[in-house]
Amino acid sequence: MTSVIESDEHKALREAVSALGKRYGRDYILRTIAEGRPPTELWADAGKLGYLGVNLPEEYGGGGGGVAELSIVLEELGAAGSPLLMLVVSPAICGTVISRFGTEEQKRAWLPGLADGTRLMAFGITEPDAGSNSHRITTTARKDGADWLLTGRKVFISGVDIADAVLIVGRTEDARTGRLKPCLFIVPRDAEGFSRRQIDMELNAAEKQFELVLDDVRLPADALVGDEDAGLLQLFAGLNPERIMTAAFAIGMGRYALSRALEYARDRTVWKAPIGAHQAIAHPLAQAHIDLELARLMMQKAAHLYDAGDDIGAGEAANMAKYAAGEACVRAVDQAVHTLGGNGLTREFGLASLITAARVARIAPVSREMILNYVSHQSLGLPKSY
Ligand SMILES: Cc1cc2nc3c(=O)[nH]c(=O)nc-3n(C[C@H](O)[C@H](O)[C@H](O)COP(=O)(O)OP(=O)(O)OC[C@H]3O[C@@H](n4cnc5c(N)ncnc54)[C@H](O)[C@@H]3O)c2cc1C
Repeated sequence: MTSVIESDEHKALREAVSALGKRYGRDYILRTIAEGRPPTELWADAGKLGYLGVNLPEEYGGGGGGVAELSIVLEELGAAGSPLLMLVVSPAICGTVISRFGTEEQKRAWLPGLADGTRLMAFGITEPDAGSNSHRITTTARKDGADWLLTGRKVFISGVDIADAVLIVGRTEDARTGRLKPCLFIVPRDAEGFSRRQIDMELNAAEKQFELVLDDVRLPADALVGDEDAGLLQLFAGLNPERIMTAAFAIGMGRYALSRALEYARDRTVWKAPIGAHQAIAHPLAQAHIDLELARLMMQKAAHLYDAGDDIGAGEAANMAKYAAGEACVRAVDQAVHTLGGNGLTREFGLASLITAARVARIAPVSREMILNYVSHQSLGLPKSY
């Protein structure tokens, strides 16, 4: 029966993706991490089944859905212990921006590959000296004949080693200072003057983060996606799906951790009854479940608004969903580790490493505090301190 919250199609997608996720599972991801390589087989299988491009237009090889469908894919893979972080970036940000603002040529060049997973794109906005304040980014594009020359630095950019190109957020020379007027460039991974250094992260994840240097990288005119004067609207067309997808990532991870804790709490007996019978163990797990469900509801609202074309409404909901999901994930993982006692910290059970992984959802792509700032100012009309 179709529920008000989720259609039969969505439920079927959830089940099918969940089955794929379980076929791979946590052990597969841990193996790829140990081998220092990306989860290529799962990515390829998800691509063949059409899951990586569910949100992209059908005429370019996608599924014709939206971020609602793509968030289901990521949540279910995560709940099975095998999340694909690059879904947040490649189809959700880059695929969306190109399909909404790209030229016909750019769409044909990129979307079919992003949809079937044979091509992958990373996304770079964060800079060492700007951080949460994107208005301070200084990566600058200057015209040289018909070409662009792009110069700047980026940090914490995920998956650059496995990406064919990076969608870089910069600003043009004549909009170098003041309020950000962003413009987006497709920079091929091997472009001259473009270098990367892997950052040593304490994250047990298959995807790696990089610091990037762009030193007068020469790009053809058609490397620019969209209008150089379109400004923030164009950027947020990608950033709102990113927030919704980060919520999906967090909810999936929280569900995975919770399910491991539940299995353990049902069996582990050190007094008369299994530890799950003690309310000090049961209630925090019940709270974690409620928090994850609530976060998912807000994520669904955000996805629904975004897919319906309400960019402004989606902005507020996407921020709230990312906040709620990040917090719910951090708490669920913490409680899961605690539920396992000493085993919460063993490699065999593999939950402790999720403690740092869960924190990613609190920090990126926009931190908990910046969302609270957004809600204070935009939703509640309070004055700014900065
Ligand atoms: C695993 C991982 C993957 C990432 N992948 C990508 C990627 O693919 N592409 C990309 O572009 N970026 C990526 N990032 C970067 C991420 O988006 C940034 O780390 C994030 O935006 C925060 O910026 P920052 O680290 O510079 O922190 P800062 O901006 O230095 O903030 C530090 C702390 O100060 C707080 N703070 C800052 N300003 C305020 C304020 N006004 N009020 C209250 N508190 C404030 C913040 O909340 C935070 O707690 C990734 C980060 C991580 C950890």
